[in-house]
Amino acid sequence: MINWDGPSVRHILSLSGGKDSTALAIHLRDRVPNMEYIFHDTGKELPDTVAYIERLESYLGQRVIRTTTRQGFDDILRTKGGVLPSGRRRWCTDYLKLKPFEAYIGDEPCINYVGIRADEDRVGYISHKPNIRAVFPFRDDGIDYAGVVRILTDSGLGMPPYTEWGRTRSGCFFCFYQQKIEWVRLKQHYPKLFEEAKAYEKPNRVNGQVFYWTDEPLDQLERPERMAAIEENWERTQERKRARRTQRPLVDVLGGLETEPTPRDGCMICQL
Ligand code: SF4
Repeated sequence: MINWDGPSVRHILSLSGGKDSTALAIHLRDRVPNMEYIFHDTGKELPDTVAYIERLESYLGQRVIRTTTRQGFDDILRTKGGVLPSGRRRWCTDYLKLKPFEAYIGDEPCINYVGIRADEDRVGYISHKPNIRAVFPFRDDGIDYAGVVRILTDSGLGMPPYTEWGRTRSGCFFCFYQQKIEWVRLKQHYPKLFEEAKAYEKPNRVNGQVFYWTDEPLDQLERPERMAAIEENWERTQERKRARRTQRPLVDVLGGLETEPTPRDGCMICQL
């Protein structure tokens, strides 16, 4: 029977480079002094994410431990016969995030602090290993999206830098959960990374089959007329969302209820 209040229990916060786990680290800095901060760097992260983690280290006055595996994305991709990960074949999270997390913890009892907010209806990654207990401080403390933004602003860290150029998620630059507009932004902001992502869409050495990150090849998505159409479509969607917001009951507006601009789908452990 584990005594979860005992001194031998480790305290671990797994960072993704996203706003919620970063805000949670700030929120708990002075409450959990023996916290171990870890970051499962896939080696394919955005430069913005890496820089944000480094700024957080300065704020915490503590190193964030990288749990990067020896076998990187490209090695694993080869063992998968060149089959790119996708929503249905999400081997990347398993190999590059979950396994390093469990390997780092080992068999010692550990409390895992998870950054799911009070306004979110999801469970996130919960290990079924009996020595890991997940806790949700934002839920316990009633901290929602607006609360997270406040924590980041007050700390001086601000929102993750990639949000400035229109990306909504941390994680790998080629993540298949990206929206079309995020691919457009990647091409505009990090053309070399876009080229790198595109280079993966090539005939597989084993059977010549080609796998794509999204439902259209990136060399089609990057055509000027296609990018313009994606931009236009995105603008129209934003317009509709703005209109819906102004139709909200006055009590919501006066109450300052702010919600996350884009609903999240995708990889919890990568983008929390
Ligand atoms: S960010 Fe996306 S591509 Fe990277 S490990 Fe997570 S799900 Fe896979």
